[in-house]
Amino acid sequence: MRLNKKLLFVSILVFVFFNSSLFSSEETNKIKKPKNIIIMIGDGMGFNHLKAGSLYLTGSADALAMYKFPVKYAMSTYPAKCGTYGEGGELKWASSFSPYLNQQNPFNLLSDFTCSGAAATAMATGKKTFNGAIGVDLNKTPITNISEIAKQNQKSAGVVTSVPFCHATPAGFSAHYPDRDNYHEIAYQMISESKMDVIIGYGNPNYDHDGKPMSPNYKYSGDSLFWNSLVQNSDKINSAKGKLPLQDCNFDGKPDKWNLIQDKSEFISLAKGKTPDRLLGIAKSFETPRQKRGSEVGEDYKKASAKGHQLPFEIPFNNNLPNLSEMTFAALNVLDNNDNGFFLMVEGGAIDWAAHSNQKGRLIEEVADFNQAVEDVVNWIEKNSSWDETLLIVTADHETGLLLGPKNPTGKSSSREIESNGKGKLPEMDFNSTNHSNSLVPFFAKGAGSNIFNIFADETDAYWGQYINNTEIAQAVFILWNK
Ligand SMILES: [Zn+2]
Repeated sequence: MRLNKKLLFVSILVFVFFNSSLFSSEETNKIKKPKNIIIMIGDGMGFNHLKAGSLYLTGSADALAMYKFPVKYAMSTYPAKCGTYGEGGELKWASSFSPYLNQQNPFNLLSDFTCSGAAATAMATGKKTFNGAIGVDLNKTPITNISEIAKQNQKSAGVVTSVPFCHATPAGFSAHYPDRDNYHEIAYQMISESKMDVIIGYGNPNYDHDGKPMSPNYKYSGDSLFWNSLVQNSDKINSAKGKLPLQDCNFDGKPDKWNLIQDKSEFISLAKGKTPDRLLGIAKSFETPRQKRGSEVGEDYKKASAKGHQLPFEIPFNNNLPNLSEMTFAALNVLDNNDNGFFLMVEGGAIDWAAHSNQKGRLIEEVADFNQAVEDVVNWIEKNSSWDETLLIVTADHETGLLLGPKNPTGKSSSREIESNGKGKLPEMDFNSTNHSNSLVPFFAKGAGSNIFNIFADETDAYWGQYINNTEIAQAVFILWNK
């Protein structure tokens, strides 16, 4: 079915479920409207990345938290227009996922892949766009995202990431800009133009990856004027562009200032008790504290990558910096103040970074950090909410590295299947690229409204089975929240 027709069909179906007295209450309850929606995205996390994490951590292939969810599919991630993103050159049409080409040879998936900006935009807005785009369509026109729909419903909205807060994935859920690499403009927008209640991540200008003080680098945090007004928790935001406005996030008609926290202890203490209305958490690492530990800021890509080839957990973590769970708990404790509910996006951002650098050990560590956050969110829902009112989605924006079975003497993986070496041992596996691929990615859902994805999963791949399209996440959310 074509997308628009399918959307119309599902809308009618859901409208009928919710509104018609012709249906029994049992049928009306078939698709529940969630009060809260949480989407957790492993950046670059393909099926084999997750399986590698599961094999290492548990000894079995599918024992991580999300495998226990009732709704399990694959998901396509291709953009509207792709090309040679990241290596210069023109963007081009002809992007799609072909089950035929995949069945022929997984190496066919090394072209036509998405970037994280186009993928986040698709998941957040329900529309495909070009690689490099953040929250804009092919004409560079802003398109409404899930966070904005949450605010239209008087709900709260937040984003959390383990990489810089204005990186592509959180940006796709909170900003509109045609170039994902313009971190200054995106940071200005997220903080000054969005109505987000919570923004948490890294990108701190004053600390290196390991959290040691360094001379300021404002790559991810606007400019010095901007950063200083955030540090002062000021109700006026200055910037090199002049004064920037603040938006009303709590529906009282008055602009709301941000409350910046940076210390791990502040994240931990905000997991419980009283919280500010608006929370900006920019923890003390320049980019990301695990995958980049031991690397210098701005260090040559190959040199940094060569350092990251230890076994997982061999080098101690930077325990002075919060992990993804600690950041997520602080976000949830702010967002759950709103009786109307909330939307939250949580990104394990450095799974992708480890895969770009072909670092098997650090990949396992990043999947472990993400999985811990998923387990903690599951427990949070069961303790503080319920599956009757909260929908949890766990997925990825694309696959990175074409991670397949071990390489043969020709230097290519000859099987798609990675092989277990038992718990606590790296599986037999190899990367076949240092960039993204067009592979389908895993999709899991649990809780109120999760069965809506059974309607969307109408395409089939010979290898990965039934799949949805990444745009159908936002399309489903828009239906569930009647927008
Ligand atoms: Zn990437």
